[in-house]
Amino acid sequence: MRFLLTLLALVALGHVPAVEAQSTDAARLVTALLGDTPMLADAQALTDRIGGRATGSEANLASVEWALARFREAGVTASKEAFAMPARWLERSASATVHGGSIRFTPRVAAMPFSGGTPASGVTAPLVDGGRGTDEDFARLAAQARGAFVLVETEELVDVDGLFKEYADAAAVELRAATAGVTGIVYQGSRPNDLLYRHNVSAGPTNTTPMAVMERDATARALRLLRLGERLQLTLTLGIESDGPYESWNVIGEIRGSATPEEIVIVGAHLDSWDLGTGALDNGANVAMLIDIARQMKRLGITPRRTIRFILWNGEEQGLVGSWKYADAHMNELDRVVMASSYDIGTGRIIGFFTGGRPEIAAATDKALASIAGLGPFTQVDLPIVGTDNFDFMMHGIANLVANQAPANYGPNYHARSDTFDRVDATQLRLNAVIAATVSLGFATMDATWTRQTRTEVEQLVASSDLEAQMRMFGIWGDWVGKRRGRR
Ligand SMILES: [Zn+2]
Repeated sequence: MRFLLTLLALVALGHVPAVEAQSTDAARLVTALLGDTPMLADAQALTDRIGGRATGSEANLASVEWALARFREAGVTASKEAFAMPARWLERSASATVHGGSIRFTPRVAAMPFSGGTPASGVTAPLVDGGRGTDEDFARLAAQARGAFVLVETEELVDVDGLFKEYADAAAVELRAATAGVTGIVYQGSRPNDLLYRHNVSAGPTNTTPMAVMERDATARALRLLRLGERLQLTLTLGIESDGPYESWNVIGEIRGSATPEEIVIVGAHLDSWDLGTGALDNGANVAMLIDIARQMKRLGITPRRTIRFILWNGEEQGLVGSWKYADAHMNELDRVVMASSYDIGTGRIIGFFTGGRPEIAAATDKALASIAGLGPFTQVDLPIVGTDNFDFMMHGIANLVANQAPANYGPNYHARSDTFDRVDATQLRLNAVIAATVSLGFATMDATWTRQTRTEVEQLVASSDLEAQMRMFGIWGDWVGKRRGRR
């Protein structure tokens, strides 16, 4: 509504052409995205037909070919670009038996990504009450923790804040457990109704200790028995397919710029997912959204000033690897990447963007969103954040955005069996497509008043924010310090 009025005013004033072309493109794109497009059908095909697509799996390979075909079918120039994943990790089976005296029950478990595997006959060890896994808990257990499976109680997860706390707590528990010499760690599932999910081991692929999440109610039963003084054992069997480096692919769809095609705006969402559910909120819906934006731009013949690259990242769940390797492989063009954005928080309303601790980018984002203020309010949070595919661009000094979304149903279904197509909010996904398209087109069109940061400037950003703590939580601080990631 607002840009329409602006356009009418400009028409009246007589200086139309450049602004009209730009605003008309944005308006046509908005209208197209709100229409009957294949976006939902795509999201369903990727999730219901292909399903969970952990990097390194057959389903992931199918998703790469599927995405490539969707871009090409729409006439969008597309390619797949290979990169090396450091190590294969796939769960093939997981089971557990709690036993002691006349007690015997078999809770469902899920291996934590990068958990060590066990022999086919499993590993049997005493099961001990690890409390919340605090320093006090390990002090209480003392020598009992050595060689045992430590069972760690969790709070019930209700929202995204709980999710961040869970990650932060688990990273600390892992360190204490390693010091205590445990055989393995078993976390009580934090989700109600015995929902299982994958929660990454913070040590990453170097970890060899078996770690699993156990369904919530059976864990509570085991803890009650232990607290009555019962002596229990756990037999844990984790069939893990693990292997060395292998090849994976990012999928790239490109709308070439008309005036300065060498300048690039990156719009990204990750194609891979975990595999208990089918990766609908995380992140199939946003993959389908990006494909649809590219499709509609192509259909309408929209060619912005700059090139827009729609990149479907792979290896995101296993260390943000696809975007890391892409940034390194494209090192010689990073000066010309004007902005890199990520969409990765399900289908809750986009309420603004994380703008990376750069006020000029927050201001540019405000400007890009102005024409669709009616879908707001939008508030930019000008902080650098770690956890999705903006990360390596940020550390390379490139302006980066992460869509900040209303939590909606993201937290409770995160990496869980329940992350399936029926959780997608179809109406909001369409509105989010409008927002993402408007911002992408805005950055591909506006005058850029910023440049890529130097290593020193990125270091200053790290020093003046909580980036170090965030990177430590995700186990990637060493990669930055060791100059394996980001601007060298
Ligand atoms: Zn994700």
